[in-house]
Amino acid sequence: MNAPIAIIGTGIAGLSAAQALHAAGQDIELFDKSRGSGGRMASKRSDAGSLDLGAQYFTARDRRFVEVVQQWQARGWVAEWQPSLYNAQDGQLSASPDEQLRWVGSPRMSAITRAMLGALPVKFSCRITEVFRGDRYWSLLDAEGNSHGPYSHVIVATPAPQASALLAAAPKLAGTAASVIMEPTWAVALGFDSPLETRVEGCFVQDSPLDWLARNRSKPGRDTHLDTWVLHASSAWSRQNLDLPKDAVIEQLHGAFAELIGCAVPPPSFTLAHRWLYARPAQTHQWGALADADLGLYACGDWCLSGRVEGAWLSGQDAARRLLEHLQ
Ligand code: FAD
Ligand code: NAD
Repeated sequence: MNAPIAIIGTGIAGLSAAQALHAAGQDIELFDKSRGSGGRMASKRSDAGSLDLGAQYFTARDRRFVEVVQQWQARGWVAEWQPSLYNAQDGQLSASPDEQLRWVGSPRMSAITRAMLGALPVKFSCRITEVFRGDRYWSLLDAEGNSHGPYSHVIVATPAPQASALLAAAPKLAGTAASVIMEPTWAVALGFDSPLETRVEGCFVQDSPLDWLARNRSKPGRDTHLDTWVLHASSAWSRQNLDLPKDAVIEQLHGAFAELIGCAVPPPSFTLAHRWLYARPAQTHQWGALADADLGLYACGDWCLSGRVEGAWLSGQDAARRLLEHLQ
């Protein structure tokens, strides 16, 4: 029997592994607890159009990722974003242009993982709670008590805190995943009926509850009927205010935004808050991916490398490469 390979997680890491394995002729099956793909690169559909509440843009520095991003651009999945960039420090706003190439999904961030998924077999709204091995094959158990399998190998492509439980069959991998601390991020979107009178389109922020802000309409292909801004709180502020009700988070981050943006900020006609519990690893690592090749269990994700889109994609490639090497 040729059992397929199970991949848990349809973020960019899981889909990177899926594409590499599929290209090598392997059968795969994907699972995700959400209703769609993308994970922290997903976009939220809202009355203000599609909003990138997680990853804002990404850079490509590794040669392999540069090449794949060029292919994505040729297929129209990504476009360059050239915001008018600012820096805010000690309450002072200053223009901060640079030469860095920054990419966004087109017309929304989730376009990338949706296109990567293509027609690959996937079960959405399926939260895997257990990964266990019989004599030869792996099975998965989901939160509704259904079992899935048999599988020849399993790749866990979720954030580290969620991965450690799924890696219990390989205690060393589970321990490594459990050692990774992931920081939260509160994200808020504010939509204004009239455009704010500012040139700012993206801003790195220091010494504030905020860490980053972006003007949604400055990204290619976005909805423009409102002037919608995405604000990210710093890790420290998000940790300290983890359980604050959404209304209070919106009020406080709106206040911080109004203080630093340097123009009149009317009451927004649209607001939304989203809490990312496992937004970014507290540290970078050089693991590539985690593997127990004899067992056939693997883990990948941004937390194995740089905590960025590029790191997540590279980690998925590494998991697939190690699995394929072991098959030979
Ligand atoms: P994820 O995207 O988290 O994917 C994991 C998937 O696993 C999810 O779809 C989840 O639903 C699924 N899952 C989890 N548990 C289970 C389970 N038990 N069963 C089934 N499915 C499960 N990176 C940049 O490069 N640039 C940025 O500007 C940037 N900004 C960011 C801003 C925020 C607010 C956040 C949160 C992240 C940001 N990042 C940014 C980081 C970037 O989004 C991540 O590095 C990358 O998307 C991680 O991909 P991943 O596949 O490793 O994990
Ligand atoms: P990048 O090169 O644009 O930015 C890296 C960092 O360099 C920035 O965070 C900023 O501190 C600094 N920087 C870059 N250009 C600047 C400029 N013109 N003026 C002032 N400072 C500048 O992108 P990257 O290396 O791909 O990093 C990805 C981004 O994703 C980072 O900004 C990171 O903070 C963000 N991120 C956020 C979360 C979250 O949960 N909020 C999670 C992961 C990554």
